[in-house]
Amino acid sequence: MSVVIDGKALAASFRADIAAQVTRLGERYGKTPCLSVIIVGDNPASRSYVRGKIKACREAGIESRLIEFPDTISEEELLSSIARLNADADVDAVLVQLPLPSQIDSNRVIDAISPEKDVDGFHPTNVAALFLGRPCMAPCTPKGIIAMIDSTGSVIDGARATVVGRSNIVGKPVAKLLQDRGATVTVAHSHTRNLAAVCRDADILVVATGHAGLVTADMVKNGAVVIDVGINRTAEGKLVGDVDFAGVSPKAGFISPVPGGVGPMTITMLLANTLECFKNRNEKQNK
Ligand code: NDP
Repeated sequence: MSVVIDGKALAASFRADIAAQVTRLGERYGKTPCLSVIIVGDNPASRSYVRGKIKACREAGIESRLIEFPDTISEEELLSSIARLNADADVDAVLVQLPLPSQIDSNRVIDAISPEKDVDGFHPTNVAALFLGRPCMAPCTPKGIIAMIDSTGSVIDGARATVVGRSNIVGKPVAKLLQDRGATVTVAHSHTRNLAAVCRDADILVVATGHAGLVTADMVKNGAVVIDVGINRTAEGKLVGDVDFAGVSPKAGFISPVPGGVGPMTITMLLANTLECFKNRNEKQNK
């Protein structure tokens, strides 16, 4: 039977450390890190994610400012709001909750956030830096996934890793982070032939597709570390991942649950990135 990676407990220990750093740096610089979150419209899932982020900030001693717009907002108005936050010396980090309404070009919005305040690590400057191996703001979910794998004591260096999913926010960056840590990485997607064999080859299997129960026990190597990123709601309203947890658990070495796995670690890395933005900005100012 596998060990369940308790994302909530791991998140709590990271958050305690972040809160201690917030206090220490607050004393050094005489101010508190500040994250501005923009939300557009009333999407219930987005609202719930944002509530979680704001609560986590409060608990870590990070100031958060919520800016709410109706879903009728124009792209220009949204871009002006971002420009104001970029120029605001009291704001360290800026997050625009996605998805955005159809009249707004998300790429233009992401591009408008100052790379040094780009807490999600989605700006092309940060993405390019990540892929060039330069200092950057790495995206939260991939960072959280690496921390979860590390928490198992499994060695990434030299391991075979398969990432199922090639999105810009999860699949591609987590594959790059695993590669940077010395794993031999295969990135699978909807065109992959014989997905089961590609997954079975992996010592570390990261699944981020948005397809409930896609990965079944026959697709998992004995003893593998399985990280389930997917968030899917069943017809009964239950949250489930992309991995058949009950079937895969007896076979995997370690497995992350949904909920209570990657989700809490993603928010934790948002706090870590906010702190990093704060440190970078203050160290620059003190040079
Ligand atoms: P996207 O929809 O952007 O990407 C999904 C990827 O999965 C694509 O690359 C797609 O392939 C691949 N895929 C889809 N179906 C299959 C299949 N049958 N076999 C193999 N590959 C397949 O999703 P995201 O990366 O944004 O998110 C993935 C999941 O993770 C979602 O459930 C999302 O809610 C969740 N998520 C959870 C987070 C958390 O904090 N816990 C954070 C972010 C996301 P192709 O490119 O060929 O279309």
